[in-house]
Amino acid sequence: MVFLANIRVYELANQLGIKSKELIEELKKQGVIVKTHSSSLDEETALLIKTILTSPKKKEPTPQPVEEKVPPAKVKIVPEEKVEEKAIESKVAKPDEIKEKEKIKIGEAITIKELSEKINIPAKEIIKKLMGIGVMTTVNQVIDSKSAMSVAKDFGIEVEVISFEAEEISTEEEEKEGLIPRPPVVTIMGHVDHGKTSLLDAIRQTNVAAKESGGITQHIGAYEVDVDKGKIVFLDTPGHEAFTAMRARGAKVTDIVILVVAADDGVMPQTIEAINHAEAAGVSIIVAINKIDKPNANPDKVRQELVKLNPHLLPEEWGGKTIYVNVSAKKKIGIEELLEMIILQAEIMELKANPLKPAKGIVVESKLDRGRGPVVTVLVQKGTLKAGDPFVAGPYFGKVRALINDRGIKVKEAAPSTPVEVLGLSGVPQAGDSFQVVPDEKSARQIALLRSQKQREEGLGIKTRVTLEDLYKQINEGVVKELNIVIKADVHGSIQALVDSFQKLETKDIKIKIIHGAAGGITETDVILAAASNAIIIGFNVKPTDKAAEAAEKEQVELKLYSIIYNAIADVKAAMEGMLEPTLVEKVTGKAEVRQLFTVPKMGVIAGCFVLDGVIQRNADAKLIRDSVIVYQGKIGSLRRFKEDVKEVQAGYECGIGIEKFQDVKIGDIIEPFFLDKIPKKL
Ligand code: GDP
Repeated sequence: MVFLANIRVYELANQLGIKSKELIEELKKQGVIVKTHSSSLDEETALLIKTILTSPKKKEPTPQPVEEKVPPAKVKIVPEEKVEEKAIESKVAKPDEIKEKEKIKIGEAITIKELSEKINIPAKEIIKKLMGIGVMTTVNQVIDSKSAMSVAKDFGIEVEVISFEAEEISTEEEEKEGLIPRPPVVTIMGHVDHGKTSLLDAIRQTNVAAKESGGITQHIGAYEVDVDKGKIVFLDTPGHEAFTAMRARGAKVTDIVILVVAADDGVMPQTIEAINHAEAAGVSIIVAINKIDKPNANPDKVRQELVKLNPHLLPEEWGGKTIYVNVSAKKKIGIEELLEMIILQAEIMELKANPLKPAKGIVVESKLDRGRGPVVTVLVQKGTLKAGDPFVAGPYFGKVRALINDRGIKVKEAAPSTPVEVLGLSGVPQAGDSFQVVPDEKSARQIALLRSQKQREEGLGIKTRVTLEDLYKQINEGVVKELNIVIKADVHGSIQALVDSFQKLETKDIKIKIIHGAAGGITETDVILAAASNAIIIGFNVKPTDKAAEAAEKEQVELKLYSIIYNAIADVKAAMEGMLEPTLVEKVTGKAEVRQLFTVPKMGVIAGCFVLDGVIQRNADAKLIRDSVIVYQGKIGSLRRFKEDVKEVQAGYECGIGIEKFQDVKIGDIIEPFFLDKIPKKL
């Protein structure tokens, strides 16, 4: 083995004033293949490459991202007319009798009054026509472009729709030009008490201390950190719940996830959840092993645990691709290095946005402030947001009255990847809602109005989800190419058995992806993850919590519960082949909570219960549930009220329940009687 002073790729790139990526390219040209920016180079190679790159023939190194960035003050905004021009025309049918000159332009939404003025038809007539197609309106009500188009057509007038959403798509396509690097947006995740909040605070404090000027730090939902090579934006709400909830609303905010794992505690259930949530979202992970100041810290053991759990997490220093940094949030060790690694990762990801566009972003926090009215924190994703811009935020609209940064300072504009507080909204949108600058206030108002009308009509506007019943159809239509599954089971062994069997069912038409598998009951977070990833949930010997069941209903996520592995596999297989037989669905008839325990001679343990819901019937099949896990299934052998045998007990009453052949009841357990109902296959 040769012992030479080694140097990492990024260190050498630093010395040479070029990006790691460029150096890796240059090395490749020289026949030196390196895996990542932190791979080691021996002294000889380093010297060679240095000589090549610094020789006079070589072109100037490309400037660093920071220098390339357009300073906010110079940012030019495309004038409104241009935005209008870019709107794409929708393909309206052109019957012969409709004359070209009658073409009239309307926006995504329009009030009856405006439509009446535009097409020169009395509002009354329009309302009548709409009534004919079952749409009840008034003069000032907004209708969508489709209804407007169809009504106009009935009067022989063709209208052209300047669609807001269509314009969006067109800008996405042409957006390859004018892209410049933007700062990464980071979310911190990890198990409870592993130090997420402490790490966020440590990063913020280090940074604030380094800045000589500026206001007092404000908690606005996200904050910016300045490092030598650029900026990093941290989202203030740590954890995967908020992250996935936003994703379920269609918002993708985070570029990089920092997975915090305590060096003294290692991989815990929420560590696994965090990894699965990040992977389901396709977000890069950097691992921060925290609490290395503790005497029992064992960072390498944590690395091993993580690799064993997920081979993607093989550390760079072991030949893998994942960056690991040892830190102590408490003692402020490794913080600078962590920040440096985030910048490096961002560099590799080539995060870019065009600042010369009307702004578009995501609401990351919102509140109703007593003095200032509705206030939202927007993370600008592309374009530049300026004071005075008209905008739509979810079902609300407004004109930017003021922009305030994370240090409480009023700013004139916000470039891509900048979190800012925005004042001037008509209402309080939700975190995860989209925020978009539109050409003028009038269209902002109309789009917002239309959206709130739609929301009222459709509830939350849920997309079609994958279900086992529709799977075959969806595969054939090419809508579904991958069946995403979340598995929750009573024990780890069952999960592995299910994963293995499901994987064997894969065909060339459909892949099966287990996005999360864990022991325990089905939680609301599981449902949100499934909603965000269009997955179904398979529960084996477990139940959803009440909240999870509610969320599943609301989000229309399919929850399939089994107590025999074979049935779960047979169902998925049948669904894939379009042969799903009528399924037996369990209908729960009641719910009783165990509040006391008695031992009765000859009968054994009797559970003193309170009936919370429905009705409990003697001889019914029932499940005994403890912490959302089904611990036993059997018959209700005895049912008593005040020592009297009874046939049934209604909600709101106490009773004694004896479960046949089962003695191990505990206080707090839930007894749920059920019967099996046949649900025929939908065609
Ligand atoms: P979270 O639940 O993940 O946000 O964890 P917290 O940031 O609230 O930290 C949980 C506990 O761990 C607190 O008592 C912290 O003081 C402690 N803690 C966090 N980071 C460190 C660290 O680097 N070293 C030590 N010794 N303790 C830490």
